[in-house]
Amino acid sequence: MGAETLAEALRALADSLRFYRDMGMTDLPLSREYLPGPREALRDLERQIDGCTRCKLCRGRTTIVFGTGNPNADLMVIGEAPGAEEDVQGKPFVGRAGQLLTRMLQSVGWSRDEVFITNLVKCRPPQNRNPEPDEIASCAPFLLGQLVAIQPKVILALGNFAAQTLLKTREPISKLRGRLHSYGSIVLVPTFHPAFLLRNPGHEYRRLAWEDLKLARREYDRLRARDSAGR
Ligand code: SF4
Repeated sequence: MGAETLAEALRALADSLRFYRDMGMTDLPLSREYLPGPREALRDLERQIDGCTRCKLCRGRTTIVFGTGNPNADLMVIGEAPGAEEDVQGKPFVGRAGQLLTRMLQSVGWSRDEVFITNLVKCRPPQNRNPEPDEIASCAPFLLGQLVAIQPKVILALGNFAAQTLLKTREPISKLRGRLHSYGSIVLVPTFHPAFLLRNPGHEYRRLAWEDLKLARREYDRLRARDSAGR
C-alpha cells in the first residue's frame, strides 16, 4: 500500500471513529474483525432484521420496510413509519406521498437512487397511527445501524413525528423547519411530510417545503465541497 493510500485509509478510519463517537457509541464490537463498507454493513443489518419480532408491530405487518437507496448516500431521508402501500411492496415512500417525495427531491436535483430513504420504524403501525415509544426504542438499533453504515452528511426529517423524535423535542414542525439542527455530527433539516402536503394542497406549505429542500441541498453541497477540499 502506498503512503498516499495509507493516509487516505487512516483518514477514513478516523472519520468513522469520530462518527461513532458523535452518535453516542462507546463500544465497537469488532475485536479482530475489519470494518465493513456501507453496502456490506447494510446487507448485514438487513439479514439481522429479517423476521424481527422485537416489538408488537411485527404482528400486523406484511413486510419489513428496511429502506432503499444508495449505501454511500450523503443524504438520508427519514420518515415516520411505512404506510399501507409500503407494507405491501416492502419499499419506503411508494404511493402518492412517495411520488410527491420523488418530485420534491428532484426539484433540487436529487434522484431517489442517489439518496437513502427509510423510516424511524420499519413495520407499519395499525391504522397508520404514530409509532409508540417502546416501538421506536425497539427499532432504534436498526436506524442507528443504517446511520453508522451510511454516515450521511445531511438528514432530511419528514414530518412532525420524525423531526420531534430525532431531535428529542416537542416543538412543532412549523417551528423546527426552516433551519439547520445537529444530530450528532450530521446536519438535520426538518420539513413537512409529503402526506401532509397532499392533505393540505395550498401553495404556502409547498413553498415552505421547497425552501427547506433548498436549504438541505445548499448544506449538502457545502459539506461535500468542504470534505473533498480536505482530501
Ligand atoms: S418495527 Fe422494528 S423493532 Fe419492531 S418488529 Fe418491526 S423491525 Fe422489529
